[in-house]
Amino acid sequence: MSTIQNVVVIGGGLAAAKTAEALRENDYTGTITLIAAERHLPYERPSLSKDYLAGKSSFDDALVHPADWYREHDVDVREGRTATAIDTGAHTVALDDGSTLPYDKLVLATGSVARRLPIEGADADGIHYLRTVEESDAIHKTFGEGRKLVIIGGGWIGLEVAAAAREAGTDVTILEGGKLPLLKVLGEKVAQVFADLHTAHGVDLRTDVKIEAITTADGRATGVRLAGGEVIPADAIVIGIGVAPEVGLAEQAGIAVDNGVLVDAALRSSDPDVFAVGDIANHQHPILGHRVRVEHWATALNQPAAAASALLGNDTEYTELPYFYSDQYDLGCEYIGHASADDRVVVRGSLSEREFVAFWIDGENHITAAMNVNIWDVIDEIKPLIAGYVVVDPDKLADQNVPYANL
Ligand code: NAP
Repeated sequence: MSTIQNVVVIGGGLAAAKTAEALRENDYTGTITLIAAERHLPYERPSLSKDYLAGKSSFDDALVHPADWYREHDVDVREGRTATAIDTGAHTVALDDGSTLPYDKLVLATGSVARRLPIEGADADGIHYLRTVEESDAIHKTFGEGRKLVIIGGGWIGLEVAAAAREAGTDVTILEGGKLPLLKVLGEKVAQVFADLHTAHGVDLRTDVKIEAITTADGRATGVRLAGGEVIPADAIVIGIGVAPEVGLAEQAGIAVDNGVLVDAALRSSDPDVFAVGDIANHQHPILGHRVRVEHWATALNQPAAAASALLGNDTEYTELPYFYSDQYDLGCEYIGHASADDRVVVRGSLSEREFVAFWIDGENHITAAMNVNIWDVIDEIKPLIAGYVVVDPDKLADQNVPYANL
């Protein structure tokens, strides 16, 4: 009989639910307890800034599993509970109701918290962040013909919310601190495609802006004041300026943390009985050969299978490449790999028609990442080029007539 009888998962999102699922799939028969701070069963967040936000899909569609699944698989989800401390010596987790749970193995799946904008007026009514389903509902209510929505931050949240808001007829202004939205992730050429996309759909995209304050009247936000004094009027404001990994408990427990919880290739932390998955895992990636922490859905979806297997004593590594997707208006894209800031971009296809695959290549012409825009079913062909650290000829890479297999 296995010596592992109790697994506690701190977290109630996709990564937590997938951990429970993977443990049962590995024939683990002991207890599984999920500590879920939100008063919901685990749900997936991508649609909160896409279809769900646009009113095109329901919350039930976003649930990882229906309620029956947790009963049938004997998974105890403590909704609305938070863990307050971990004692790695005693192997216990303290909860906010005063109780203590013993664990043999602990999985941290605490995710991220939205970064707050520390400026005057930032706590007024009418200011929204987007992380939870309630926050998505509140943002949806601000949409409509003639209503003014100002979005601070031209990242993934900012752009996806802008698309949903514009499709509902809302007047949208995006305020981005950098020269282009998504500039740091995509580089100038590809970031420009996203800037043009939003401008073409009627978004007032302001870049290189410095935000000074949120203007208010009677405790309610009325606009955003930029350096220089211009005020952009707003009926509502969405702030999407990035997230921070939720690592407070790990730090307090003495687990090694540096830009997330430091985990090895098997997602094991500095404490051999504690694993971390999803947004918080700063993972030693065996294929990429360096650490990577990825704040995207696919990591939360896929890492738990490896963590659960390793936790049960199997010799496992997590080897999936980072992956994410986005949908904005009629543009759909997928990104795979992990480019660094000095990689060069090579484009196969047409940027102006928004139908292309962009590749990032390093100084020795290895492909580090790729993004397909409005071109589908290419990921499976591209993946081996990245995973195999293949050296390519950039001219052939840019040539649509050269099959991927011939690169
Ligand atoms: P994000 O993608 O990291 O983007 C944040 C953006 O805000 C960046 O463009 C950043 O510019 C800008 N910014 C930062 N401080 C600012 C300021 N003071 N004024 C104006 N702009 C400012 O984060 P996010 O959009 O908030 O999304 C949150 C998380 O959810 C991220 O981890 C994201 O990956 C994830 N997410 C993913 C998807 C997807 O995969 N499709 C969709 C939604 C959310 P600089 O880069 O110049 O700092």
